[in-house]
Amino acid sequence: MNLGVIFELQNVRKVYKMGTERVIALEDISLTFEEGKTYCLLGTSGSGKSTLLNLLAGLEKPTSGSIKFKGRPLEKLSEKQLTLYRQGYIGFVFQSYNLLPTLTALENVTLPLIFRKIGSFKRKKAAFKMLKAVGLGKRWRHKPHELSGGQQQRVSLARAFVNEPQVIFADEPTGNLDTKTTFEMMDLITGMARERGQTLIIVTHDTEISDYADQIIQMRDGLIESIKENERKISHENEEINGNNPGDSADSGVDATDAGGE
Ligand code: ADP
Repeated sequence: MNLGVIFELQNVRKVYKMGTERVIALEDISLTFEEGKTYCLLGTSGSGKSTLLNLLAGLEKPTSGSIKFKGRPLEKLSEKQLTLYRQGYIGFVFQSYNLLPTLTALENVTLPLIFRKIGSFKRKKAAFKMLKAVGLGKRWRHKPHELSGGQQQRVSLARAFVNEPQVIFADEPTGNLDTKTTFEMMDLITGMARERGQTLIIVTHDTEISDYADQIIQMRDGLIESIKENERKISHENEEINGNNPGDSADSGVDATDAGGE
């Protein structure tokens, strides 16, 4: 299969100034990411993984070098254009879920659609469909504190995918989850990205997580130590992903009209 290039990095360097000191977060990174593949940025704390993710997401600019998204250099975009780039093309999953505590699961999932000015009914319908896809259809009214950690992370997955972004960034997505929930979460996120043909870039220090990726990019001290195609990739092709996940098998028949009732 001939996959298109989604990100192309050339000699990317990121240096932070801390008073008189300079911290070299990324030394000299040249890399290509292809559409529809799952990548893992693997490395110990301080190796530069999150910095690289922030640059790809246009949250920070490189000190030098170029980052192209589908041929367009991100470093040349204005802040407004970068915001539109993130809203239109990127979904985020964080270690700490980053859900708004006063909103229900459904309302949290609708947030990226509000920013894109999609109407209320359509928003709720899309959010409800996505909550069902992550196995939480019957929990749409729950607030984050009424959900387990694994369920909160599923809500955040639904929020990341609801926009149908081309790229999903997941920064230590299972860092706060127990082992069993971690594997369920990894099956779910990699399965959803694969089904939708999305590029998934996961940041982790955990080799059990990196085994889910097509390609493992090992980082050390702001440099790429190695890039490996993952022959042993964990793949759970036979598991049903949509709407019937472990721990939520008795999903209710609540529909989007009900969810969007008020
Ligand atoms: P990782 O995600 O692999 O733990 P980071 O990308 O967070 O690594 O950090 C790489 C290096 O850059 C570290 O030495 C870190 O202290 C430094 N760093 C990251 N962000 C900043 C910042 N905003 N200001 C100063 N130094 C930073």
